[in-house]
Amino acid sequence: MVDSLYGRKEESKSIWILLENDKHHFEQVSLELLNKSREIADQLGWQVAGLLLGNGVEGLIPKAFSYGVDQVWIADHPLLDTFSIEAYGVATYQAIMLGKPSVFLCGATPNGRDLAGRLAVRLRTGLNADCTNLYMNIDTVVLVSEVSGFGGGVLALIEMEDHRPQMATVRHKVMKEAPVNTKHQGEIIMKEYPAKAPSLQSRTKLVDIIEEIESTVNLAEADIIVSGGRGLGKPENFKVIEELAQVLGAAVGASRATVDAGWIPYSHQVGQTGKTVCPKIYFACGISGQIQHLIGMQSSKIIVAINKDPHAPIFKVATYGIVGDVMEVVPLLAQKFKKALRK
Ligand code: FAD
Repeated sequence: MVDSLYGRKEESKSIWILLENDKHHFEQVSLELLNKSREIADQLGWQVAGLLLGNGVEGLIPKAFSYGVDQVWIADHPLLDTFSIEAYGVATYQAIMLGKPSVFLCGATPNGRDLAGRLAVRLRTGLNADCTNLYMNIDTVVLVSEVSGFGGGVLALIEMEDHRPQMATVRHKVMKEAPVNTKHQGEIIMKEYPAKAPSLQSRTKLVDIIEEIESTVNLAEADIIVSGGRGLGKPENFKVIEELAQVLGAAVGASRATVDAGWIPYSHQVGQTGKTVCPKIYFACGISGQIQHLIGMQSSKIIVAINKDPHAPIFKVATYGIVGDVMEVVPLLAQKFKKALRK
């Protein structure tokens, strides 16, 4: 077994969270992690620290305190303006080696996953990816990470006995958001880098950011998602999915089969190689329910499946199943919901 760069004897009694942000707001999942971390830290009398990286992000410090952070570790630099794995990797690594947290958590976002994987290797510690819950084993004072595997068939509880930090990435919406307390104050630990900061230079160059114009809600943060699969038959039929989504104020999701066929952009894909979502209600319309799709959506609170095949695997995870033709059932649902919501 490989030794981590520091272990239990050197750990500080603190839980760290990557505070992902867009300069003005924190990612929803960071706020959810803060709530859980506060709960665990309070049980043990530990501290919660937020790692704030970016360019012009100092304005977020008071917000971080109000969400229950005791310490903000901040690196504010033009080379951290947008996420780059090399610059963010270095800044995070250096902060961790100074603060030596017991636990380091990131949201299971594209950037959080990228960063956590690289850091775990560099720190020679373990990483529990895509967790659905976290709690502390009070007797051993070791973090327990809940991870579902094999399409939900197995629930693994993973503990990291000796390696530090105990790292995990956590899915969206599996925890409640931290409450706001504007009176809560904390400490600021600033890491200064020189103007050219050779350590933050990246070999990759960001050429442009093209924002996709979304007419509906962001998938990862949506409370309701209506997803379409190959059962729709042809790309134009996605309009029935969009119509139901619009009635419900929902986001539009898709199976990989439809994305691969070019019916809808990749940003809508749910599943193993797409987004992991956890809405209150997930509509799977004409989706068979292959394991790679289930991995991305089976933590949804309510799953409504519409499929013409009564033996489709999606019905095994569905809360409500409708056997029928999507092109008949989905417009009917849109019509009924429209009526009901108007009342
Ligand atoms: P199908 O499996 O073809 O299912 C279509 C369903 O529609 C069927 O159940 C059928 O009964 C039903 N149907 C047909 N006509 C109608 C109708 N008129 N009315 C109602 N129902 C109808 N998939 C993902 O979704 N996300 C991923 O991230 C993902 N990652 C993958 C990663 C790897 C490494 C691999 C190997 C595969 C991955 N896949 C992923 C692909 C996955 O295995 C399936 O191929 C895919 O999910 C199938 O999409 P589908 O359910 O839309 O299509």
